[in-house]
Parts: sequence; structure tokens; C-alpha cells
Amino acid sequence: MIDLFINGKRVKSSSLETRNIIHPANGEIVETTQEATKTDVEQAINAAKNAFEKGPWPKTTNIHRSEILTKVAELLERDKQIYVKAESQDTAKRFIESEYDMDDVIKVFKYYAELIKTQSSRKVEVGRQEINSEIDFEPVGVIGLITPWNYPLLQASWKIAPALAAGCTFVIKPSELTPSTTSLLMDTLIEAGVPAGVANMVLGSGLVAGVPLSNHPDIDMVSFTGGLNTGKQIMVEASKTVKKIALELGGKNPNIVFADANQEAALDNALNAVFLHSGQVCSAGARLLVEESIHDTFVTELARRADLIRLGFPGDEATETGALISENHLIKIEKYVAQAISEGAILKAGGKRPTDPALQKGFFFRPTVLDNCHAKMQCVQDESFGPVLTVETFKTETQVIELANDTIYGLAGAVWTNDSNKAKRVAKSLRVGTVWINDYHPYVPQAEWGGFKQSGIGRELGPAGLAEYQEPKHVWQNLKPGVTHWFDGKEVK
Ligand code: NDP
Repeated sequence: MIDLFINGKRVKSSSLETRNIIHPANGEIVETTQEATKTDVEQAINAAKNAFEKGPWPKTTNIHRSEILTKVAELLERDKQIYVKAESQDTAKRFIESEYDMDDVIKVFKYYAELIKTQSSRKVEVGRQEINSEIDFEPVGVIGLITPWNYPLLQASWKIAPALAAGCTFVIKPSELTPSTTSLLMDTLIEAGVPAGVANMVLGSGLVAGVPLSNHPDIDMVSFTGGLNTGKQIMVEASKTVKKIALELGGKNPNIVFADANQEAALDNALNAVFLHSGQVCSAGARLLVEESIHDTFVTELARRADLIRLGFPGDEATETGALISENHLIKIEKYVAQAISEGAILKAGGKRPTDPALQKGFFFRPTVLDNCHAKMQCVQDESFGPVLTVETFKTETQVIELANDTIYGLAGAVWTNDSNKAKRVAKSLRVGTVWINDYHPYVPQAEWGGFKQSGIGRELGPAGLAEYQEPKHVWQNLKPGVTHWFDGKEVK
């Protein structure tokens, strides 16, 4: 049983209601969690507020917080396999993928430990010797963190590490489907020396446990990763008390392949771009834009390889990718593919559940390639968040830039060509937060991550990811105070 975590202690829900966590690969119950009520969430917010206003954390030195974050990273290394097992159990990810995710989580804590250690206030030169003017970076306050199910701990770490580095306190609500590793992290934070009340966790649905984190007056900022519609609702709720918001939303990311690209690398990466973690990746290369002259050979080979992708269980060595997160999501993907075909898409691979008897209890869907798509189709505009690739063709560089940008989203994209100047021109023209040239998916904690347009507001990772959790404060000190003579205090007769 996973309990709530409030003020440094495990607590039951005030309603004692529980929720079952289902393994997506076999439909079995793997864990049960307490289901928070609005009162529980308010208690967690109160604990975070007390820890911020009366506790030591916001006033500790940057060096101290850096040491604690370093300790968190060390403990995560020690307990890595426990985390890996829990993450794969909740998400049906291969163990190796969860291991990569854990390595990345550890790097994020180490990165912010280093960054905060070297940050100091900024001197402002005002041209007057008697004035000391400087910018201090203070914690924003009590943060509400809301995270999704696809990279549960990784997404949480992108928020928690900089929030702690800045001196904030927080209440986190992980996805109701994947709470296990976030819960483990609460114990790790306490063991590393984070004071009680700084880190709190509530569990349950977005509507009960999430909404108070976006509209409670004692929350100073809400940082959310998830779908576009939820992001819009959070903006509305947060506007009532003018909270700071950071939103990481969806994407419909173009993967552009020119005829002069290294064909084998482009093909291999096109598969990886969209089918990694069964497409449940916000930056998935779900829109393939391929130059007309290579379209037939490229798409035929891509579809052949997609049909060979091995679905399976997390611990099975042969598995290349796992199940979708839930039955609801599986049904959503089926409808999405049926709609695309009704719009004129041609099914080249997948499009159905696997027939393997061993997979029937899980939420599996075959990697799917839809050819003959164009920008006005719903399947090209809407994010599926599943293993579905749409294929469009283009003839010119100008045309492909227009097509790639013809979306409300702007998270990521890639361009494949051996012409470096062309690659840079296209990269510059794409209205997205991350562009890969002759690559797909790599990211590092040092580089900002986030979206243009409706893919989000603000950035995670990099220095900007820390700045989200800080309020710059200008302190002006006059060492030789004097009179201004602006108001002379004389009575005019
Ligand atoms: P959702 O938006 O459904 O949920 C995300 C989180 O928000 C969950 O914890 C959810 O709770 C909670 N939530 C739901 N409704 C509300 C509400 N009204 N108020 C407050 N919280 C709420 O997204 P998914 O979990 O389905 O994740 C998939 C989406 O996330 C995709 O669209 C994907 O693109 C996006 N994403 C973006 C990333 C990025 O970096 N830009 C990274 C990863 C995902 P619960 O579900 O438990 O009810």
C-alpha cells in the first residue's frame, strides 16, 4: 500500500479510499494507493506553506542545498534497481529503458546541485559609487507539481531538483496510474536530509487531488506536465490567484527526411523517433515528412521494419517495446487509427492489437504506419501519444518548412540531410523548442527543454529550468543617503 506523504510522514487518506495500480502488460494489480481527498491536499499544502514560512529550507545556503541534492543523487544510485523495478511495473517499460531514465534522473539532481552551488547574486552597475545594487534570487514559494504517466520519475525530477535547489517547498501529485517511483523519492529526500514539510505528495485523480494544486491561494506556482486540455484548465484555475505557471504540454513533432540524407541512419532513427516507449513520448517524431523522390523506398522499408518490432514484457530480453499505459488509452489509439483511415490514410503497418496469445491481457498495440497523409487531416494535427506514424511527402525546402510548422504545437522536430547549410536553415525556421539535426531524442540536463506555441509555457532543465523557481529581487542600497530636494516642504503663499 502506498500512503500519502505529508509533513515528512506517511498518512492514510481521510476517506480511507484506495485505488489499484494495474500493470499495463498483463492487467494485474501490482499496487494499491491511498486516494487523497480535498482535505488531505489542503493539509499537504499547509505543511508546505509552514515549511516555507517557518522552516529552515528557504533560508539555507546554496552550498547546503547543493550538498543535499548531491546526496539525493547518491542515494538514487544506491537504490537504482528498486526504482527501475517500480517504474517498469507501473509503466510496462523495458527494464533497460527504466535504467536509462534513472540514469537521467540522477544526472538532473547532480546538474542542479552544481548549478546552485555556483549561483550568486548579480551586481548591477549603476554608475554611482555610493550605490550597491544587486539582484538576489529568492525561492518562488510553495509549488504545486503535477506530472504525467509516461516518464513518471524523470518528469518529476525536472521539477523537484530545481525547485529544491531554489529553496522552494512543494506538493506533488503524480499521475494516478504511475505513483510508485515518486513515492519512493519522498523517502529518499528525507534520508538525504530534506526537512519534513518541504516535500509532500498527494495521490489520486486530477480532478480531486490536482485541481487544488492549481487554484489554492497558498500555492505560489504550479508546474505541470501533461496534455494540452489539462494545461488550459490549469491556466484558468491558476489565473484566479495570478500564480506563476510552467506548462510542458504535448507535441506533434515533424521528422523531416531529405533525399540526400544518410538513408540507413534516417530510417533507423525514424522508427526510434516514433516507436520508442510505444510512442508515449511528448517529443515523439510522429509526423514523418519525406522528400517525394525517396518516398516509396523509404516508407516501404520503414513499414517492413515496423512490422518486425517485438512487443513484450519489461523483463523479457527479446522485448523491443512495451504495452500502452491503460485500456482506455488503447481504445483511444484504435479510434484514432480508424478515424485516420476514414480520412484517407493508407495503412502500411500495424493498425491493430497483436495476435500473440501471451499479450492478450495487456494493453498492446502494433506499431502503425499511416501513409498518404496531409496537413489538414485530424491524424496529422492531433497528438495520438501512441505508436502511430503519419507520413506526408514534400518537394521543396520551403514547402516542408510550411508543412512542419502547420500545427498548433511546437515542442520538437528533426531534420535529416547531408547538406549542413540546408539543415541549419530548416532548423532555424522550425518553430519548436528543440531541433535535432541528423539525430533524434537526445537531451541533456544542461540544455533547456520546452515548447513554442501551444506546447507550453516556460522551460525545464538548463539554467532557465532553475529560473522558473526563482524570483529575482532587486536590492538597492545607498551608502551615502541624502536629500532629493524634489519636494521642498515650503508653503507657497
Ligand atoms: P493529463 O493531462 O491527462 O494528466 C497529466 C497530470 O495532470 C496527471 O497527473 C493528471 O491526473 C493531472 N490532471 C488531470 N486533470 C487535471 C486537472 N483538471 N487539474 C489538475 N491536474 C489534472 O496527461 P497524461 O497523464 O495523459 O499525459 C500525457 C500527456 O502529457 C500528453 O499529451 C503528452 O504530450 C504530455 N506530455 C508532455 C511532456 C512535455 O515535456 N512537454 C512530457 C510528457 C507528457 P490523473 O491522470 O491522475 O487524473
